[in-house]
Amino acid sequence: MEKLTLEGFMSGLKNRNPGEEEFHQAVEEVAHSLVPFINQNKIYREAAILDRLTEPDRIIIFRINWEDDEGRIQTNRGYRVQWNNSIGPYKGGLRFHRSVKQSILKFLAFEQTFKNSLTGIPMGGGKGGSDFDPKGKSDAEVMRFCQSMMTELYKHIGQFTDVPAGDIGVGSREIGYLYGHYKRLSTQFTGVMTGKGMAYGGSEIRPEATGYGCVYFMRNMLNRIGEGMSGKTAIVSGSGNVAQFTCEKATELGAKVVTLSDSSGTIHDPEGVTAEKLEFVKELKNERRGRIKEYADEFGVEFYEGKKPWHIAGDLAFPSATENEIDKDDAKALVSNGCMAVSEGANMPTTKGGIEVFQEAKILYGPGKAANAGGVAVSGLEMAQNSARLSWSRSEVDQRLQTIMNDIHSKCVEFGCIDNGRVDYVQGANIGGFIKVADAMLAYGVG
Ligand code: NDP
Repeated sequence: MEKLTLEGFMSGLKNRNPGEEEFHQAVEEVAHSLVPFINQNKIYREAAILDRLTEPDRIIIFRINWEDDEGRIQTNRGYRVQWNNSIGPYKGGLRFHRSVKQSILKFLAFEQTFKNSLTGIPMGGGKGGSDFDPKGKSDAEVMRFCQSMMTELYKHIGQFTDVPAGDIGVGSREIGYLYGHYKRLSTQFTGVMTGKGMAYGGSEIRPEATGYGCVYFMRNMLNRIGEGMSGKTAIVSGSGNVAQFTCEKATELGAKVVTLSDSSGTIHDPEGVTAEKLEFVKELKNERRGRIKEYADEFGVEFYEGKKPWHIAGDLAFPSATENEIDKDDAKALVSNGCMAVSEGANMPTTKGGIEVFQEAKILYGPGKAANAGGVAVSGLEMAQNSARLSWSRSEVDQRLQTIMNDIHSKCVEFGCIDNGRVDYVQGANIGGFIKVADAMLAYGVG
C-alpha cells in the first residue's frame, strides 16, 4: 500500500474544503505528527482513519431570529458541528462571536476530538455557536437570542448524544438562558449542558478549570526540567474566563502576572495583577462587561492600545484570548525576551510560523489540545456528577483535575519524547489523542 504523504493528504483536504483556512491549519498541525505514525502503523492506513477523522459526522446549520429591545427583528446563523462520537457523546463548547463561521467551528470541533480523548473521559468531539455578538446587548436581548437558538438546537443534543458548554462569548449567563430553555422545551432535567450554575447541576471548579488546568500543565512541563512556577513572570493575554483563572492560579503558585488584554489593547502592570486587582477585573469583565483599559485607569499602569502583550518580557506565556494571536514575529519577540515556556489556554493561538519559532528555540511549548483540556475534563466530571445525582466538593474536583492534567502530561511525554529526552508536546498530544479514537473506529468496522 502506498505511503501517505503530508503534501498529498493536505492537497486533497484543501480541495475538499476550499477557503476553510483555520480548518486547514488545524488539520495540518495534526497531520504533521500523524502521517509518519500512520505510515509506521499500517492498520490505521488500511482503514483510512485519517481521511475519516478529518470529515465531520455532520454539521447542522440553522437560522436564529430574535427581537431586539427596539422591536426590530434580527437574524443570525447557528451551527453545531458533530465531529466524532467514537469514544463518547459529542462534547464541546458554543462560541458567540462576530467571527464565527464554519471553518472556525470545524477547526475547533476537530481539535476537540483529540483533546477529549486525551482527558481519558469518554467524550467525543463537537463544537458550535453563532455569529451573534453579545457585546453591547442587554440581558433581555441575550436571553431572547439564547432561547431562539435553543428552539432549534434542542432537537440535536441530549445527555447521550451531544453535550454543549461555553466558549468565547458564552459564560454562565448564556448557559443559564440556554439550559433553562432546553429544560422548558424537553420537560427534562438532564445533564445536557455543562458549565451550569451551582444552583442547577453545575460542578465546583468548572469556571476555573481551563485556566487552572493550563497552569497545572505549565507546572508539569517546568517540573520535568527541574523548574517551578515560583518567582517567574507571566504574560497572559485575554481577560475573559480562561485568562482570569490562569492569572488566579499562576499568582497562587508564586508567579507574577504582568499583562492582561482584550480586543482593544493590553495592560502592563509590572507590580503584578494581585488577587485584589483580579477581583476588579472579574467585576469589570463579568458584571459591568467593560474594557480592560479601565484597569490601567484604576491602577495607573500602561495601556497599549490595539496591541497584543507579546512584546513585553516574561518567563512564561499563557495565550488565553483567541486563535492565531501569536504569529512568527510575536513568537520571536517572546523568545528574544527570555520566555522559556508557553502553555496555551486558547485554542490554536499560535500560527504555524510561531510554533516553528518555539520549536527551533527548544523552549517548552504546550499546545492547546493538551494544555487547555482541563475545561472539558471538568465538564466530563460535571456529566458524571449529574448522572450519579450528586455533587463533589471543591477539593475533590480540583484533585481530580490535577490528576487528569498530570496524566495528559505523561501521555505527551510518552508519545512525544524526542532527542536527548526532550519532549515535543505537539507530537505527544496529537498521537496520544489519536490512538484511542482510531482504535474505537477500527473496532466498529467501516461505517
Ligand atoms: P471569553 O469570552 O470569556 O474571553 C475571551 C477573551 O479573549 C476576551 O478578553 C476577549 O476580548 C478576547 N478576545 C476574543 N477574541 C479576540 C480577538 N479576535 N482579538 C483579541 N482578543 C480577543 O472566552 P474564554 O476565556 O472562554 O475563551 C478564550 C479562549 O480559550 C478561546 O480560544 C477558547 O476557545 C479557549 N478555551 C476556552 C475554554 C473554556 O472553558 N471557556 C476551554 C478551552 C479553551 P473582548 O472582550 O474584547 O472580545
